[in-house]
Amino acid sequence: MIRENLKNVREQIQAICLKAGRDPGAVTLIAVSKTKPVEALREAYEAGVRDFGENKVQELTEKIPQLPPDIRWHVIGHLQRNKVKYIVGKVALIHSVDSFRLAEEISRESVKKGVETHILIEVNVAGEETKYGVSCDEAPNLVKEISVLPGVRVKGLMTIAPYTVDGEKNRPYFDKLVQLSVDIAAKNIDNVSMDVLSMGMTGDYPAALQAGATCIRVGTGIFGERDYGADGTGR
Ligand SMILES: *Cc1c(COP(=O)(O)O)cnc(C)c1O
Repeated sequence: MIRENLKNVREQIQAICLKAGRDPGAVTLIAVSKTKPVEALREAYEAGVRDFGENKVQELTEKIPQLPPDIRWHVIGHLQRNKVKYIVGKVALIHSVDSFRLAEEISRESVKKGVETHILIEVNVAGEETKYGVSCDEAPNLVKEISVLPGVRVKGLMTIAPYTVDGEKNRPYFDKLVQLSVDIAAKNIDNVSMDVLSMGMTGDYPAALQAGATCIRVGTGIFGERDYGADGTGR
């Protein structure tokens, strides 16, 4: 099932990219494995997945030692400052940085451990009240402020588009994030690159790829529906 799903998603990526005149090899598929057991991740690993996304620090730190060391772990969920110390040095990319204070904490911990941590700035493009992330207006300043911190490197932007049954409806938000990254890149801020655009999930990754996503985060489309249990707080 996971192998089949992966095959489908990869074929989709291939087809959409070719149609859009993009190199499919330039797209990173992140398998979002939150709430899924280690066996499911192992199955995806065996089918070639090396990038996994998790949104809870505790779940992430429990899974890391149980799986091969060549996996690139992506933190995609809201991150509390007091949890930063558990993940710095263990993850490839933190997608969800939306405040200077959080970046400062990542910087402090990275310097302490002698590592450089790659981060994305989370932008709430649609301005949804229920979502984290800075506004498009705030993003350039935040990037500039963070750029002087040692031990952290801004690699690009991330957004979570609104929930929709018609993914095409999110295209304007993806286009907006692309434009924002172009605007920020044009400022030529030292230590900052805008190479990574993390956008698109199971319901809207085709639109995100058409717009120019370099990283898509697919959970349900690979692992099937998530079971959040009775309290429904799995996010
Ligand atoms: C859960 C999650 C995803 C994956 O969502 P699906 O709809 O299952 O593909 C992607 N990005 C973030 C930030 C998530 O929390």
